[in-house]
Amino acid sequence: MQDSDVIVIGSGIGGLCTASLLARHGKRVIVCESHTIAGGAAHSFERRGFKFDSGPSFYCGLRNAQSLNPLKQVLDVIGESLQVIPYDPLGHYHFPEATFAVYSNAKMYRHELHKITPQGAKEFQRFAERLLDLYEAMKGIPTLALRSDWQVILVLLQRYLPSLAKMLPHLPLVQASVGNVMDATIQDTWVRQLIDLECFLLSGLKAHGTIAPEVAFMLGERSRAGVEYPLGGSAAIVNALVRGLKRWGGQLRLGCHVEKILVESNKAVGVKLQNGEVLKAPIVISNATIWDTYNHLLNPEDLPAAFREVALNTPAVDSFMHLHLGIRATGLDNLTGHHVVVHNSSQDITTPGNTCMISIPSVWDKTLAPEGHHVIHAYTLEPFAGWQRNDGYEQKKKQKAQSLYRALEKVIPDIRERVVLELIGTPLTHAHYLRRYQGTYGPAIAAGKGMFPSTQTPIKGLYRVGDSTMPGIGVPAVAASGILCANSLVERSQTADLLVLISSTS
Ligand SMILES: Cc1cc2nc3c(=O)[nH]c(=O)nc-3n(C[C@H](O)[C@H](O)[C@H](O)COP(=O)(O)OP(=O)(O)OC[C@H]3O[C@@H](n4cnc5c(N)ncnc54)[C@H](O)[C@@H]3O)c2cc1C
Repeated sequence: MQDSDVIVIGSGIGGLCTASLLARHGKRVIVCESHTIAGGAAHSFERRGFKFDSGPSFYCGLRNAQSLNPLKQVLDVIGESLQVIPYDPLGHYHFPEATFAVYSNAKMYRHELHKITPQGAKEFQRFAERLLDLYEAMKGIPTLALRSDWQVILVLLQRYLPSLAKMLPHLPLVQASVGNVMDATIQDTWVRQLIDLECFLLSGLKAHGTIAPEVAFMLGERSRAGVEYPLGGSAAIVNALVRGLKRWGGQLRLGCHVEKILVESNKAVGVKLQNGEVLKAPIVISNATIWDTYNHLLNPEDLPAAFREVALNTPAVDSFMHLHLGIRATGLDNLTGHHVVVHNSSQDITTPGNTCMISIPSVWDKTLAPEGHHVIHAYTLEPFAGWQRNDGYEQKKKQKAQSLYRALEKVIPDIRERVVLELIGTPLTHAHYLRRYQGTYGPAIAAGKGMFPSTQTPIKGLYRVGDSTMPGIGVPAVAASGILCANSLVERSQTADLLVLISSTS
């Protein structure tokens, strides 16, 4: 007896995209989410009237018909859309030497760059053109058409030959590091530092570790499709996916921790829940990280030993310190929503505490904070090692949050006097609420140093989606992983039907 056709472990954006697409295709889908709130790294939570994003707050092309964002393609086919607030400048980068307003509008971006370094602005133009050519070439093949099995070749040859031909001149860039493009086009040290920072914000790695298509996608989407914040915060995205899932007959079970994936004769047959219940299905899709899936959800003997060892040795980006604040907003009329503060330019930007990200989404959506207040999320990298819930924990937490407070002081000098609610999160908090191995941001697979393992596994009927399957940690990449996985589980003609649907609505 099967309980469903597909069980998805985890309701991160990757899991929800896969599940809602498969439900859209008529499969009986159950999503088991360990937490009591859906969304994984993208979930929102509320305390005393302040609605916090736990992770992402930077989004492009959620609504624009020109967008290549795979998340938008999923929303379109499940019949959902979002209300969004477009904004520009998309943020301010605060270096010790200067503050730089970052515009998604390419002309404005170059104009700001020109004020700091005229030569650097010219060099950046060449860099951006090279990558935007790649973005334009990528446009002809929607992610929604792709799959992660061999049949992708048939799809490309049968439907996208002209677009494939356009991609040919760019093929050397597809797996290449964007650092190579930077080396070939940019000498200016300030602009090189800026590109390293943009790559780090995108992938957790600097330019030489980040692959070129990721940066091409970022530059293309933000300048062509625009930067937007969803009304209601990241919860709005999660809610839209959950609504879509349910509309097409899928189920979401919250507070439903999966203890084990059941494997018989090298085939996934279902899952065992923490409460002892067994759910049977011929297809199981794990949205847990590569480390959590292969270490905890499977038994060692379920996997070939060599494969398991390589998978578990995947390098991981550090975890985070988080500062969630509710503050009084009096007199902060010109506040903008995104800031990145680099404390010390002579120190590596990846050094924990040196680069701090700040998001103040109530600037765009006032409903996220009680009247007269703002909601703030600031975070910085922090290694997992060394954190323990012992006697010194509270003290260490407060001390480690200081780099975030100092960063916030660059934006709101009297921030400490304004605080009405303070929540400090450590790598232990991150690992606990996001159910992620060592609270990691994701895999640190540098360009040219290995391939992401895709959605297939050596076990029949077991697949993986999310940020440890495809390059590019972030919402678009995990949505893409969901599409590739779902498409591989249906006929090519079913995918083609959905493509017709989105081309007729766009
Ligand atoms: C601080 C921060 C800021 C970010 N900012 C941005 C941004 O601005 N823009 C952007 O695009 N991206 C951003 N990202 C990245 C983005 O949020 C993530 O890459 C993405 O949300 C990860 O999605 P995922 O599908 O891989 O799964 P996850 O979000 O990791 O979700 C996996 C889900 O599986 C569940 N789960 C795990 N194990 C089990 C189990 N055994 N049983 C049941 N359920 C289980 C977890 O509870 C979780 O809900 C940010 C991330 C962080 C942490």
